Amino acid sequence: MPDFAALREEMVARQIARRGITGRRLLDAFREVPREEFVPESVRDLAYEDGPLPIEAEQTISQPYIVALMIDAAGLAPGDKLLEIGAGSGYAAAVMSRIADEVVAIERRPELARLARARMARLGYDNVRIVEGDGSIGLPGEAPFEAILVAASGSHVPDVLRAQLATGGVLVMPLGAPDALQKLVKVTRRSADEYEEEDLGPVRFVPLIGREGWRAPDEITAPLPELIRRAAEPLPDLDDPGFGEMFDRFAAARLVLLGEASHGTSEFYRARAAITRRLIEHHGFSIVAVEADWPDAANVDRCVRHRPKREGEEASFERFPTWMWRNTDVDAFVRWLRRYNQGRAHEEMAGFYGLDLYNLGGSMRAVIDYLEGVDPEAAKVARRRYGCLEPWSRDPAAYGRMAVTEGYGRCEVGVTRMLKDMMARRMECARPECDEWLDAAANARLVRNAEEYYRVMYQGSAESWNLRDTHMYETLCQILEAKGPAARAIVWAHNSHIGNAAFTEMGREREELNIGQLVKERFGEQARLIGFGTHTGTVAAADDWDAPMQVKAVRPSLPDSYERMSHDAGVPAFLLDLRHGVTERALEEALTTPRLERFIGVIYRPETERWSHYAEAVLPNQFDAWVWFDETRAVTPLAGEHEAEAKGAEETYPFGL
Ligand code: SAH
Repeated sequence: MPDFAALREEMVARQIARRGITGRRLLDAFREVPREEFVPESVRDLAYEDGPLPIEAEQTISQPYIVALMIDAAGLAPGDKLLEIGAGSGYAAAVMSRIADEVVAIERRPELARLARARMARLGYDNVRIVEGDGSIGLPGEAPFEAILVAASGSHVPDVLRAQLATGGVLVMPLGAPDALQKLVKVTRRSADEYEEEDLGPVRFVPLIGREGWRAPDEITAPLPELIRRAAEPLPDLDDPGFGEMFDRFAAARLVLLGEASHGTSEFYRARAAITRRLIEHHGFSIVAVEADWPDAANVDRCVRHRPKREGEEASFERFPTWMWRNTDVDAFVRWLRRYNQGRAHEEMAGFYGLDLYNLGGSMRAVIDYLEGVDPEAAKVARRRYGCLEPWSRDPAAYGRMAVTEGYGRCEVGVTRMLKDMMARRMECARPECDEWLDAAANARLVRNAEEYYRVMYQGSAESWNLRDTHMYETLCQILEAKGPAARAIVWAHNSHIGNAAFTEMGREREELNIGQLVKERFGEQARLIGFGTHTGTVAAADDWDAPMQVKAVRPSLPDSYERMSHDAGVPAFLLDLRHGVTERALEEALTTPRLERFIGVIYRPETERWSHYAEAVLPNQFDAWVWFDETRAVTPLAGEHEAEAKGAEETYPFGL
């Protein structure tokens, strides 16, 4: 066996010191680290040669002199925290750890990261941490660093890396295409936004592969299902606590919007319930706002927050499509919420709210009832104003028709005034009484917007759609505002409402907007949009509006649709994280080509499926994540009146069966 200690001394003298790098600390560091421990067995004897050597995973260990040059250029000193990108064998990180206080080194190849980690442990270098991942974006969470050394050649100096330098800090990085001669550059951060750049001469490195670097050769050719398969994170069983945990990554947001690809698929409800439970129990979310009518959801809210029933309260969700909320999955969730709130202080309870605007009659009655309790004179005024709409409350569409023929909305002024009056009673929502006010105010707004909604329904679908989604968005904002700046919400609504409409046919061709788009415009990354999809199975849906619910077979998804690509990935249930910077670039690019996506609502018409249910979208812009269940089952509607009576009415409250 060669005398490695002697070879090491010789390396330091000949390869480093004689070439002009003479800092004592630096030379001592090279004297200390056994380079032979960092190369594969087959090249061990060559460990102290004056050049790079091949290591595992077709990578290289850099030439000692180049490592020295980079450390010298970075001006590394005790006390520094430094980041190395491209840990490879770990050799450079080991040397640097003998000088700096703390070294974090990122390596993209898992195999190399593992080996490097084992070496550090064996040598007892406990101030080095090897992180596996794409280092081309650095480690923003751990910045600032006094030095960043990049050991692989990039296409440019990423801004995200510059931003992770401490003031006065230095980044050293090779730039240039994989097989060309590259140049080593040194970037010094002079102030918050001033950087100085210097050229240190020609070098040759392996490519930096990642979001801010080059593409891996195998990423270029892989077909989309294969890219999805690689990035797909398999989801545990819906009843496994691990299911909700998979979504912890979105828990820092203020709003998490959960979609669905139909209004009658059990898996979508159960998945949303599991995620919601997790966000409420572990992450401080306290608002569950759903695509249901306000007054109906308000009854559920009274039940889950252990508030008394409202005088004259009607059963919830009695109108078409009843199965959308009166189903066993929603029932199970509501029961959970009620148990969760049991014994909690008022401000710690999680509430259940409806964002939609169809139940005009229910809302009018709720406003009047509220005023009757707090201000009987105002209740009289409300009765008179709402009296205008009362004849139409069972069939508001008829009001819309009438308004069109008469050329104006005869009830508009009254309902607008009513809303203004209600808002003037504004309340501080830290107190329990606020819930009553919030409820009445939301109902007053529902009446005002529904009046307009039914009128514009006759002027074209985009306008009424926009009115409805704007109403839902405003209701959401109103709840958030009422509950204070710390309040955080989860929304359950169809993909068509929560996926950013600007990136679908809706927005691009029909000028339709939706809740997802509006919250993104206002909250940016503080809002996370999560879409759901399925390939086949069964769904609860009707042939037509007001027609009976049926369990229908869902056709296998169309070729080339996002659904078919997800199906072909071959993972039965998965989460695909679509956040920019998290998604592999090749996948993001491949997904960015517009494709068809399926939208099943309360009506499903398999005979005309392509035209009735598919629309073009750009998935990674529409959603922050995509949740996939390859095969799904229809929801089970809650039992009918008689069965419920036999069980005892209280049991199924708040559905009032
Ligand atoms: N400093 C290393 C040199 C390793 S070669 C040593 O002393 O041995 C460069 C390494 O960068 C390779 O292991 C390669 O897998 C890795 N790499 C390339 N792109 C990367 C990226 N985006 N993030 C982290 N590591 C990367």
